[in-house]
Amino acid sequence: MTTTRTTKQWQEADSKHFLHPFTDHQALAAKGARIVERAQGVYVWDTDGNKILDAMSGLWCVNVGYGQRELIDAATRQLETLPFYNAFFNTSTPPAIELAELLTEVAPEGFRHFFFSSSGSESNDTNVRMVRRYWDLIGQPQRQVIIGRNNGYHGSTMAGASLSGMSGMHAQGGLPIPNIVHVEQPHWYELGRDMTPEAFGLKAAQTLEAKILEIGADKVAAFIGEPVQGAGGVIVPPSTYWPEIQRICRKHGILLISDEVICGFGRTGHWFGCQTFGVQPDLITFAKGVTSGYVPLGGVMVGERVAKVLIEQGGDFNHGYTYSGHPVACAVAVANIRLIQRLKLVEHVRDDVGPYLASRFEELRDHPLVGDTQTCGLMGAVQMVKDKASGTPFDGDLAVGMICRAHCFANGLVMRAVGDRMIVAPPLVITRAEIDELVTKARKCLDLTLADVKARGLI
Ligand code: PMP
Repeated sequence: MTTTRTTKQWQEADSKHFLHPFTDHQALAAKGARIVERAQGVYVWDTDGNKILDAMSGLWCVNVGYGQRELIDAATRQLETLPFYNAFFNTSTPPAIELAELLTEVAPEGFRHFFFSSSGSESNDTNVRMVRRYWDLIGQPQRQVIIGRNNGYHGSTMAGASLSGMSGMHAQGGLPIPNIVHVEQPHWYELGRDMTPEAFGLKAAQTLEAKILEIGADKVAAFIGEPVQGAGGVIVPPSTYWPEIQRICRKHGILLISDEVICGFGRTGHWFGCQTFGVQPDLITFAKGVTSGYVPLGGVMVGERVAKVLIEQGGDFNHGYTYSGHPVACAVAVANIRLIQRLKLVEHVRDDVGPYLASRFEELRDHPLVGDTQTCGLMGAVQMVKDKASGTPFDGDLAVGMICRAHCFANGLVMRAVGDRMIVAPPLVITRAEIDELVTKARKCLDLTLADVKARGLI
């Protein structure tokens, strides 16, 4: 243990002063937060000395795992040389330039321009402003509407939360903001089990076309979606879904934004999730994995269709952040991307640990609580249900996912619960042996959850 205070002391100070994201503070104060104080590889340690396999990569971001010396050195060197300078007023910095150049190596073909921010939310705010600016510049200013999806997640700023299709977020603070609407999500297990996944994928995509026709294509600026919905529960769409979305966007001239805040930088077994699904978006949102979360950085990859107009006709684009192109963040991103390349982590996910996670997750389907499993690269979901044969869900108020998540924590595993879907997205450096540990612990926690729900007469 390296801590300077006891766990209880940390918890008391935490609940006195620290307002956490997405948290019920009274409930947290009653329980006390788990205080995580150090990490290495795929493990974190809390202040009670528990070693926990972090199957969520922090918050979907620590792609290269914890403790990578190259990233630490890159940050230290840059802090010593130039901790900050801005990119406004005709100035630039070497790390921001190097990062933009390096991104051309790993981005899908056709992406040669990059706008930087500090988070996924800010990047999606940038998207909203950029696509509206684009349509203004080409003489169609009435194209204002952006279409997202139910249960999509695009951030927590006013625009990010509006683009997201989370009813709990929209219920607070008068969201969504005007001109943002939503269509169906491609969640076959929940919404489409009366048809094949392929037929359902087409049906879900066609809700986009119906919405476009309802609004009028001449009013629609863009569609935004995550290749695989992350925060919504690791929902891997049927194979027919994305090609149909692409077809619809092209037919109506609508810009396609791929939000790759989670899927980017190797998570799905390609550098970007759109490549896994064979889609060519016009804009790509990124954050998290670009620096493996070591320091905050996000941005937008701008495809040539938009970049050409912004650059050649645009004049000033009145948008930007103090930390757009932050030199320390950019230096860490450069080191991180070079490390992903050197360790061949994208290939590691695609050819080795991705397929291995898929086969080990399929084995969990024999468990009495498990209705379905899905994986894509190193993202995975285990859907718990009340009745396996019919797929009947538990009553949401029972919070069975939370019961399972608590067992995971207590047994040295971080898995996240989205409703009754238990999800993982471990660091890309994970080994087969560590995946074995993950799945063994997950099964044990499913057993403990089953015993709990039986004891409470819920099943
Ligand atoms: N888009 C997606 C797809 C995300 O998963 C997230 C965060 N989980 C965001 C945007 C928002 O990113 P941030 O929390 O960095 O603002």
